[in-house]
Amino acid sequence: MGTQLLLAGAIDTHVHSWCSDGTEAPAEVMRQARMAGLAAIALTDHDTTAGWEEAAGRVDAENVALIRGMEVTTRHDGRSVHMLAYLFDPDHEAVHEHSRCLHATRRERIEEMVENIARDYPISLDDVLEQASGEILGRPHIADALIAKGIVEKREEAFRGIISSRGQYYVPNKAPDTCEVIEWIGEAGGKAVFAHPYLVSHDMERLTGYVRDFSEAGLFGVEVDHRDNPDDVRPALREIAQNAGMEIFGASDSHGAGKPNRLGENVTAPDVIARLEDGAALPILCP
Ligand code: AMP
Ligand code: FE
Ligand code: FE
Ligand code: ZN
Repeated sequence: MGTQLLLAGAIDTHVHSWCSDGTEAPAEVMRQARMAGLAAIALTDHDTTAGWEEAAGRVDAENVALIRGMEVTTRHDGRSVHMLAYLFDPDHEAVHEHSRCLHATRRERIEEMVENIARDYPISLDDVLEQASGEILGRPHIADALIAKGIVEKREEAFRGIISSRGQYYVPNKAPDTCEVIEWIGEAGGKAVFAHPYLVSHDMERLTGYVRDFSEAGLFGVEVDHRDNPDDVRPALREIAQNAGMEIFGASDSHGAGKPNRLGENVTAPDVIARLEDGAALPILCP
């Protein structure tokens, strides 16, 4: 099947595996994508490409095409911004430099947060490391350690309480500048898409400015259809994106059992995917 045949099916452009903070192996994510009736998914683990090979090995067996991607944690204007990067060359020097620096700072940040939490709750860094299948550490792994200890019941409960970004134990991610990240994604032959913008700000004027800044750095698209952008703000987000000449993306941001988001609950149009692949460093892997 060539990329043309993708035009027949649904495409979910933002999916996590246990290589970052999802709960399933990449092969299992591919199996679940077939069960959900998807023609293609993008595997976009946080700051790692570790799941690409395993997922690629399941393209034929599951009859699901694979868009190789990554969700990069960045900072802009003092805020955390998630930037989706697609179809870039993983061997590019800029990518290597980024991963070296990011994996270390993610770990330091989690160590600091666990130290803070350990003042009040019986939890250690080892408890958290035990919850991670890959080298990428995030707050969800602290949540899983709190669940394993019986301190909270679900990840959501931990995010509302002990590990909340407004809580007393919180330590922000040390992340690279958003516009610099967009630039290196382009240098590595990839395309950058602004993930779930409403999580960054609820102020449409502010978001208009951000999309303008990012498009000057080379942004390709904006993730509009995503459950963290409420239905009533999506028309405004779509307009902001279109006025800046950006492509419109939609995706589930599934984390397996780690979040209620279901594979395929939002999708990206096939013609957008065709333009995403056009001129990119990597092809979409088709069955
Ligand atoms: P961090 O980047 O370590 O600050 O943690 C943010 C990550 O936690 C994001 O990648 C989300 O996938 C995940 N996350 C955020 N809120 C929740 C929630 N309520 N339940 C489960 N996971 C969440
Ligand atoms: Fe996540
Ligand atoms: Fe995200
Ligand atoms: Zn995500």
